[in-house]
Amino acid sequence: IIDINGLNKWYDQFHVLKDISLQVRQGERVVVCGPSGSGKSTLIRTINRLEEHQEGTIEVNGTILNNDVKHIEQIRREVGMVFQQFNLFPHMTILDNVISGPVHVRNMARKDAIDIAYTYLKRVGIAEQANKFPGQLSGGQQQRVAIARALAMQPEVMLFDEPTSALDPEMIKEVLDVMRELAEQGMTMICVTHEMGFAREVADTMVFMDRGQIVEYAPVKEFFAAPKEERSRMFLEQIL
Ligand code: ATP
Ligand code: MG
Repeated sequence: IIDINGLNKWYDQFHVLKDISLQVRQGERVVVCGPSGSGKSTLIRTINRLEEHQEGTIEVNGTILNNDVKHIEQIRREVGMVFQQFNLFPHMTILDNVISGPVHVRNMARKDAIDIAYTYLKRVGIAEQANKFPGQLSGGQQQRVAIARALAMQPEVMLFDEPTSALDPEMIKEVLDVMRELAEQGMTMICVTHEMGFAREVADTMVFMDRGQIVEYAPVKEFFAAPKEERSRMFLEQIL
């Protein structure tokens, strides 16, 4: 469903993504890890068209992405994204946050969008909070709303960029549980996370990035049992 080939990206002179190729099948769960500054966020932001790329191709669900606006809109519909900092609209209620995509991007009738919003708010366990504002919720609850908001667009793929790293420890589990459930339901996912327990349990494939390159790409069992590359081995030793 995602097919990236020979992707290169620069920020001015800085070569941030170097010859990235990555294929993700429908229903596959990929976890991306690697040191700070290795390009993990840039890679998934490029898939979601929050960033442009200069070389190579990115294909999502049959569409080859270029830097054309038409594609940006289409991809935002098909690819849901959850950020480290939730990025909810602070002046809008939880319900309005969740219906905004369906109403404004998908042109759905407000009434239908509300039905869908409640479906997903229930799924993440937040339906009772629908009329509150983001500031009135805990970090874990806000992140679950952010997941519901992405799901309300009924995307084909979900991208997560360190969704639990801004959370207090006791709230990490509630967010990982929602992600785990989503994985069990067959959602195609790319997650940047350092939660290696989650990765071990949920991922099919592990990707280790360092300095803009994919250094190791391996089935989850192999990656944790015996990483092939020295750099991934050292990273795992530090983090586990
Ligand atoms: P972290 O684990 O800290 O989130 P990361 O792997 O997600 O790191 P990126 O955020 O993708 O790393 O950044 C990769 C590199 O690109 C870093 O060296 C960063 O300083 C640089 N970079 C990121 N965004 C920009 C930008 N908008 N302009 C210039 N350089 C940038
Ligand atoms: Mg990052």
